Amino acid sequence: RDEERLTAVVREILAGDEWLIVTHERPDGDAIGSSLAMAQALEQLGKRWTFAVGEPLPRRYSYLPGFACAKIASGAPARRFSNVIALDCADEARFAQVSHWIEPGARVVNVDHHRTNPHYGQAAWVDERAAATCELVYHVVMGLGVPLSVEVAMCLYTGILTDTGGFSYPNTTREVHQIAAELLACGVQPYDIAEPALESRSWEQMRLLQLALTNLSVSDDGQYAAVYVTRGMLEGTGASDDDTEGLVGFARSIDTVEVGALFRETADGQVKVSLRSKRRVDVSRIAKQFGGGGHARAAGCTLACSLDEAMDKVWDAVQRALTEARS
Ligand code: 5GP
Ligand code: MN
Ligand code: MN
Repeated sequence: RDEERLTAVVREILAGDEWLIVTHERPDGDAIGSSLAMAQALEQLGKRWTFAVGEPLPRRYSYLPGFACAKIASGAPARRFSNVIALDCADEARFAQVSHWIEPGARVVNVDHHRTNPHYGQAAWVDERAAATCELVYHVVMGLGVPLSVEVAMCLYTGILTDTGGFSYPNTTREVHQIAAELLACGVQPYDIAEPALESRSWEQMRLLQLALTNLSVSDDGQYAAVYVTRGMLEGTGASDDDTEGLVGFARSIDTVEVGALFRETADGQVKVSLRSKRRVDVSRIAKQFGGGGHARAAGCTLACSLDEAMDKVWDAVQRALTEARS
């Protein structure tokens, strides 16, 4: 582990009395888990903190301690913060939804595991070998010297569980299991987290799944599968944007498929693309071509064009990547 970077992050956090915690838009289990774990560690240190988000958090994670503390940063802020901890944010644009709460020139602590992270901020600890930002935050909490509470442990376990796909993706290491074991020792009950975080679906989400699977398509060579969600499908089923989470996994799960993609029309008329691969294709490189980013096996980007155009453009890029991966 990068002891120096960890030490710099810990020193920076200890030096500030009040922190704004931010994470990426449409936060996932790792984003929310790492943020709430950090919030509670700051609380234990007697520091003031605010966890700002751009939109309501997905209800799926409402079992997390501190879930209700997230403040929605809509409209003008009462005041701006000069100390920021950014978690699971590959770049500063990933927390643009709360940037109006941040003082220009604010000190930023950046803890993340995205390969594409440019190490922004006054103190940055970026380790792409970590399965989850929560794995890094585990070490930060240890470094801060606060005892690991069951509340913090539940948050960290959630991020590790969700970013490893339930301890199944290739990022699942011996270290991941060792940290998970420590979190269980703190009192985490695995099923109390796996059931809401991984397994449970609202009826609306299930209806969206039924509908989306009818448009799932596979390339002639069987290596690429795509599925899309229109605004009409969301309205028709009563599902929310968050309810598309997990759909891309169905595209990837087809046995012949190497790259799976989900295309979702956004409320502001753009197309959000989620990319997943199995073994050969680095989808973060594809996402980057369209101004996005992420990891080798999970990445995303947003295109300002129609659904059809987005699907054509991504298919072209995927074909090139599949050809390169073959040679
Ligand atoms: P998802 O497809 O679930 O939205 O995202 C998959 C991964 O790619 C996540 O780790 C996420 O942080 C990253 N990601 C998704 N969209 C973007 C984007 O527009 N920019 C960057 N830099 N990363 C993204
Ligand atoms: Mn994330
Ligand atoms: Mn993550």
